[in-house]
Parts: sequence; C-alpha cells; structure tokens
Amino acid sequence: MKKAYDTIIVGGGIVGCSIAFELAKRGVKDILLIERGYLASGATGRCGAGIRQQWGSKLNATLAVESTHIFENLESYTGYNYSCGLNQAGYLLIACTPKEWDQFQINLDVQHELGVESHVVDLEKDVYNYVPFINTDGIYGATFCQKDGHADPFHCTFAYAQGAKRMGVEILTYTTVESLIAEQGKIKGVHTSKGDFEASRVINCANGWAPGLAAQVGDEIPVFPERHQALVTEPVAPMGPNGPMPMVMSFHRRFYVQQSPHGSFIMGIAEDEPISFNYRSSWQFLEECCSIITNTLPALRGLRVVRQWAGLYDMSPDHCPIIDFSKNAEGLLNICGFSGHGFMIAPRVAILVANALCQQEDAIDIHMFSADRYRTGDILIEPSVV
Ligand SMILES: Cc1cc2nc3c(=O)[nH]c(=O)nc-3n(C[C@H](O)[C@H](O)[C@H](O)COP(=O)(O)OP(=O)(O)OC[C@H]3O[C@@H](n4cnc5c(N)ncnc54)[C@H](O)[C@@H]3O)c2cc1C
Repeated sequence: MKKAYDTIIVGGGIVGCSIAFELAKRGVKDILLIERGYLASGATGRCGAGIRQQWGSKLNATLAVESTHIFENLESYTGYNYSCGLNQAGYLLIACTPKEWDQFQINLDVQHELGVESHVVDLEKDVYNYVPFINTDGIYGATFCQKDGHADPFHCTFAYAQGAKRMGVEILTYTTVESLIAEQGKIKGVHTSKGDFEASRVINCANGWAPGLAAQVGDEIPVFPERHQALVTEPVAPMGPNGPMPMVMSFHRRFYVQQSPHGSFIMGIAEDEPISFNYRSSWQFLEECCSIITNTLPALRGLRVVRQWAGLYDMSPDHCPIIDFSKNAEGLLNICGFSGHGFMIAPRVAILVANALCQQEDAIDIHMFSADRYRTGDILIEPSVV
C-alpha cells in the first residue's frame, strides 16, 4: 500500500467512516482511514443507536433532524446492499418534575420550528396507546415523536465504509496510530503499529482517545472518557400497541429502554462515573438499571438479561461535540466530545466537516463547535440529555 496520502482519518467508528464517505463524495482523493480494531469496535458498536429528534437546543435538533433524513435513506445514499435496520417506532419522553415539564414545552417549540412531528401525550389514557404497560406514578407529562427510533450501528457504519471504499478510500483495520507527526507547526502524518504514513491533513476521530492524540501536538481538548453500560434481555412478544414498544426515555430518572424488532429490550442508565477508560461491565449497573427501569415499566420484571456490555462516552463540558482545527499543527482537525449522542448526529456532522474542508457552503457555522467556546463563554447549551 501507499505511504503518502492527502488525508488520514484516525478512527473507524460512525464519525470517521461517515467523514471518509462525505469527503470522497466531494472528490477528495487519497484518503486513508486507520482503525485500531475492527470498524465500529468502539462506542459505535456498543451504543443503543437511538435516533431522536426531540432535542431542546435548535442546534442539536437541526443536526438530528437532518441526520434522520439521511438514516431514512442510508442504503441508497451510500449504495449499501443490506438494511441499516432503521426502525422508527417512536420515542416517548417522560417529564418527572414540573420544571422538566416546563422545559419540554420550550423544547416542543424548538422542534416544531424545524418541522419535527412531536406532540404532547395525555397521561390519563392516551399514553397507553403508545406504551401500554407504563406506570405513570411521578410522571408530570410526556411527549412523543413517531419518527424517532433506532438503527443498526454496525450496518450504518459499514454502509458508510463500503461507500467510501467504492470511491477509493483505503481502510486499514487492526492498526494503531501511536503518535502524530508534526513539524514546524504543520501536520505531516502518523506513526502507526504498521509503519509511518504521510499526510498533510489528519482528522482525529478517535473518540475518548482523541484528546490524547491531540495533546501530542499541544492541543488541549477538554473531553474525558466516561463508562456507560447497557444490557439486552431475551426476546419476548411485542409490547407496544402495534408492534415493539417504542423507546421510553427519562432525563430526570436517567434511563432509556426500547424493544428491538425481534423482541429483545435494550436499556441503559446514566450512572455517576469517574473519568476513566474502564469499560468493564458491573453488577451494580445490572441491579440499578433493572430497578430503575422496572419502576416505570413493571411489566419488564422477570425478563431474563442475556448480555450486558459497556462503552465510553466522550464527554465535553457542554455535552456538545468539539470540532477543532488545531492551532499547533496546521492540517490537524480534532473531532470528539459527542457526549452520548454521536451516532444520531454523525451523518450531518460528517457533511458539515466535509463541506468545511472542501470550501463548500453550509448553513451551520462549523466554528461554533471550536474548543475556543469554553474560553469565550459561547458554550452550546443543551437542556435535554440523559
Ligand atoms: C452504552 C452506550 C450507549 C449509547 N447510546 C447512544 C444512542 O442511543 N444514540 C446515539 O446517538 N449515541 C449513543 N451513544 C454514543 C455513540 O456511541 C457515540 O457518540 C458515537 O458512536 C461516537 O462515534 P465515534 O466514531 O466518534 O467513536 P467510536 O465509535 O468510538 O470510534 C472511534 C474509533 O477510534 C478508534 N481508535 C481510538 N484510538 C485509536 C488509535 N490511536 N488508532 C487507531 N484507532 C483508534 C477506536 O478503536 C474506535 O473504533 C452511546 C454510547 C454508549 C457507550
């Protein structure tokens, strides 16, 4: 294989692969994507792959809405021969305090401005038409959006990767980028476990490991790794009104749970975790997750858990991604900090990045994602995250 490229992308998750695809689509030649394991072996392959448009900030709602449109046609968009598993069974968001319910009203306005078909659900009777077995004790209100759902994170990533490959992108798996090569303020390439590769542009999409690579050239990216766990149950008959139960999510109770099309329930909670690269599974999670979720959905009691796993969130201070053009090594772009919702916004973020790198216009200003926002105070506030 060649030793010199135009662009090297570090990380074969949904972010790296979608950026490779969008750049190739815009005619960029000589792209090499390097992944330490197999494609989607990081957070992407460990995620719940939930896709929701019910956001509280206009920015996140826009990224999610425009990404959803792409997920809806990802197979034809990328030329992929398999299904990417999009299932738009909807999201029921529950508010568990009056303050949270007030926030939901504001969120609905933001969503409606963007054409999201979200609406208030009457808790007395209507809610059972969406989630028949819900315990509404302590719930102040709920909203629903039918177009929210989930997809298969492996197929989505492979769709982008295969599309990129067809356009000439080279993908090198089981290869670790050990360090960045920079000289006189410019990026020159990467040292890897399989030798050195030159490039005048390096896109660092290594998720929780991205800040460590960026630090090698002096870039300070305030993103830290945090363990998040999930579990899946045995498959059971559909528990929604007309099929699988939609996603039920609570920011206050910090959980999400959804039934997949083949009947298994996939669920997770947010725990108070230290900064760490630990992604081992724990008994504490198993107990806490089952207890919290069966409180709201008692009908899930007794279901057998068949598997649990953990992955890393790359947390930024304002829970929004950082897209930062290096000031220390020209040609280096650091992209991380997706804080637990990178899967659902990756398609639009990839377009944003590719447009910026190819000098094409974009309705979103990429510079608002710069890490400078933590110095200037222009942080991106999102009121609705688990
Ligand atoms: C339990 C859990 C549930 C989640 N649920 C959702 C959800 O429902 N919806 C949603 O939108 N998001 C969810 N997320 C978040 C989502 O998974 C991430 O935001 C998204 O996958 C980030 O994609 P990425 O490509 O940046 O990272 P990754 O998929 O982690 O890809 C980065 C890749 O870089 C590779 N890498 C790292 N260092 C190096 C190196 N030095 N050399 C070469 N390769 C390297 C890694 O192996 C990895 O494959 C969840 C995450 C977790 C952990």
